[in-house]
Amino acid sequence: MEIKVFFIALSRILSIFTPAIPQRMNLKSIFYQIPKVLPMSFDSLLNRNPVPLVVPFYHTVSDTPLPHCKHILSVKSVAQFENDLEYLLRHYTPIGVSELLQHISDEKPILKPSFFLTFDDGLSQLHDIIAPVVLRKGVPAAFFVNTAFIDNKALFYRFKISLLIEAEQHKRIPNSRMLQLQKLLQKENKRYKTLSDLLDLRFHNETLLDELATILDCDFIEFLKQEKPYLSTEQVDSLIKQGFEVGSHSEDHPLYFAISSEEQIRQTIAGVEFINRTFHVPHRLFSFPFTDEFISLSFFQQIAPHIDLSFGTAGLKQDVVKTNIQRISMEVSGMTAQQILEAEYLYYAFKKPFHKNFICRK
Ligand SMILES: [Zn+2]
Repeated sequence: MEIKVFFIALSRILSIFTPAIPQRMNLKSIFYQIPKVLPMSFDSLLNRNPVPLVVPFYHTVSDTPLPHCKHILSVKSVAQFENDLEYLLRHYTPIGVSELLQHISDEKPILKPSFFLTFDDGLSQLHDIIAPVVLRKGVPAAFFVNTAFIDNKALFYRFKISLLIEAEQHKRIPNSRMLQLQKLLQKENKRYKTLSDLLDLRFHNETLLDELATILDCDFIEFLKQEKPYLSTEQVDSLIKQGFEVGSHSEDHPLYFAISSEEQIRQTIAGVEFINRTFHVPHRLFSFPFTDEFISLSFFQQIAPHIDLSFGTAGLKQDVVKTNIQRISMEVSGMTAQQILEAEYLYYAFKKPFHKNFICRK
């Protein structure tokens, strides 16, 4: 209780300096405000928290606005991404999957600060923008793709929501259509008033999204055809030839804890087998769509024969499942890699005495 009071007081003080503290504030978000207002010594943070491995993840990098990402991701520019990489390279050694596997099997533990770079969602910028930068800097990386979306066969439902919000904001929609739109939203959930409320939609509801798209004259199929937001099979092949790792990010990006355990296992194994069959990759890698929160130990036992490594999104944390590696999101609005890592180390140090920096699973 005292800790809670302390952090409420701390958040009030910090909000004087940083008015952008999110309304739905949790403990972690408070730690994310600290590096913005207090200069840190990275070396002392690292010495106090000897976590040798950090695994950052991004979705994309772009200097031009991406309407399908705009309302759901905080996309960094090429310059911001390069600065992040330079910072990482100053403090950590880049490693690849072989070193990760040796580390996990205790064959050759990672002793000096190292990082493994990863990207989710299989977007086309991985081939056009990110791969050339990462290659130039000599950094190994893994790209995780949704097998149902390769070759622009279909569009992730949250990208559809971003496109709908964009259409609502930029098109002149007659009042009669706006009424139709609100009726549909209310039918889905009485709390929904605007399209932005759809951002908390946990399930694919393609019928609802397609109906909203018709009202807003928004054509998802045309968008896929014209913009080609995803990697093609040829581009994935080319990335593998350049030495990158490619893994699965599930078939169509469901929220794992919201689907049945049978479907979790099916999506995971089918995705990894598709990648292996199609691209003959050396490692069987999987990154969880959204989060691996609430995923059972039995899930990991069942996928173990089919997968070498999996990756979660819980930040700087250890996992009871040694082959499941937690990653840090590098796409936090207005924050550099340095600030994000400082926040993660501070949060890690805070949780350590309470043994909360370790994920236990039932
Ligand atoms: Zn994803």
